[in-house]
Amino acid sequence: MDTFRSRMNLVDAFAFVVQVNSNYLKLKAGYLFPEIARRVQEFSQRQVNADLIRLGIGDVTEPLPLACRNAMKQAIDEMGTEVGFHGYGPEQGYSWLREAIAKSDYQKRGCEVSADEIFVSDGSKCDSSNILDILGDSNHIAVTDPVYPVYVDSNVMSGRTGIAGESGRYAGLSYLPINAENNFEASLPEKPLDLIYLCFPNNPTGATASKKQLANWVSYANKNDALILFDAAYEAFIQDESLPHSIYEIDGAKDCAIEFRSFSKNAGFTGTRCAFTVIPKNLKGKTSNGNLVDLWSLWNRRQSTKFNGVSYIVQRGAEAVYSKEGQIEVKALVSFYMENAAIIRSCLTKAGFTVYGGQNAPYVWIKVPDGMSSWDFFDFLLQKAYVVGTPGSGFGSSGEGYFRLSAFNNRVNVEKAMRQIASIS
Ligand SMILES: *Cc1c(COP(=O)(O)O)cnc(C)c1O
Repeated sequence: MDTFRSRMNLVDAFAFVVQVNSNYLKLKAGYLFPEIARRVQEFSQRQVNADLIRLGIGDVTEPLPLACRNAMKQAIDEMGTEVGFHGYGPEQGYSWLREAIAKSDYQKRGCEVSADEIFVSDGSKCDSSNILDILGDSNHIAVTDPVYPVYVDSNVMSGRTGIAGESGRYAGLSYLPINAENNFEASLPEKPLDLIYLCFPNNPTGATASKKQLANWVSYANKNDALILFDAAYEAFIQDESLPHSIYEIDGAKDCAIEFRSFSKNAGFTGTRCAFTVIPKNLKGKTSNGNLVDLWSLWNRRQSTKFNGVSYIVQRGAEAVYSKEGQIEVKALVSFYMENAAIIRSCLTKAGFTVYGGQNAPYVWIKVPDGMSSWDFFDFLLQKAYVVGTPGSGFGSSGEGYFRLSAFNNRVNVEKAMRQIASIS
C-alpha cells in the first residue's frame, strides 16, 4: 500500500509539469553579453571614477529622423478620427509601404522585385529566425564563423542541431570560417548544402561582398538547389558604388534567395520596429516526395496565421524614410556613423593596429596584438583605455584573435575613446 501510494505521488508530481522544448537546453546560456556586463561591473566597482565609453553594442544612438517623427505624429492624429482610424492592417504590410520599398530599394537599382514580394514585419531578427518555420528540418545548413548569433541559436531552438562541442560549434551545422587569411570571404562549401546564411555588409567583421563574390554564391545555390538567406540590414552603409546593395542585383538570385532588410540601422528604428523580407514569387522548395511548392505561399500563410502586422503608425514612419526629406536625413545619419568609423579606423591604424571593415559598414574589426586572446584584449582596453568593445570570439571560434568596435555612438565619445586608446599604445 505504501509503495503504491509513493508511486502514485511520483506520478502525480510529474503529471502536472509540462514538457519543455529541450532544444533550448543545448543553447550556450547567452555567454557573450552577460560576460561583458559582468567584467564591466567588476571593473567599475574597483575604479569608481572610470568614465567608461561603450563601443560594444550594435544599437544606434542618434535620434529618429524628423520626417519619420512627423509622419508618425500625423498617423496618430488620424487614428483619433472616425475616418482615419485603422484597426488590423494587412498581415503583409500596407501596400503604400510595400510599393515605396519595391520602387526605391529595388526597381531603382534595376532589381525586378514587386511590391507583393515584400512582407513588412517588426524586425529582421524575428524574420531571419521565423523563416525556419517554413523550411524542413533535414536541410544541411551553413553559417559563417564568426556569425550573427541569431542564425545559429534559432537553428538550435528548432531542433536542427546537435549539442555544442568544446569550440562552441554545434553538431549538425556547417561553419564556413571568415578571417584575414581568406580576406573575410567564405569559400564555397565542398559538400552540397541546402541553406546558407549570408550577411553583407557583415556583422561583426564589417566585410562586404562584391558582385562577383555574390554571383559565385548564386551560381552555387542554383547548381545545388540551395537557398540563400541574405541579411542586408547594413546595406545603407555601403559607400563604394561598385558594391551590390541587394542580392537581387545578381542574375539568378530570384531563383535561390530570400532577403532580409530593416529600418533599424539606416533610420534608427531599433526601438520603433519595422523591417521587411523579400520572397520572390517564383522561389520554390520541395516536399518530402519531391513536389515543388512556392515558398512565398508558405510564408504568406505563416505570417497570416502567426502575425498581425506592424502598427499603422510605425509603417507611416517607415514610409517617410523614402520621402525627399527622409532620404536626406537617413543619408546624413549614415554619413555621421561612417565618419565615426573612419575616425576609429585611422586612429587605430596610427596606433599600430591592423583593422578591417569600417569602410562600408558601421563595424571595425581589429586584429588583436600577437599573444593576446580576444578576451585579453577586452580586459586590456577596459582597464587601460576605459573602452568597452566586443570580443571576436563571442561570435564564433574563428573570431578568436579579433575584436569588434562599433561606430554607433556620438562624436564626443568616439573621439575620447580614440584618444584614450592612443595614449596606451
Ligand atoms: C541589427 C541587425 C539586424 C536588424 O534586426 P531588427 O530586428 O530589424 O532590429 C539584422 N541583422 C543583423 C546582422 C543585425 O546586426
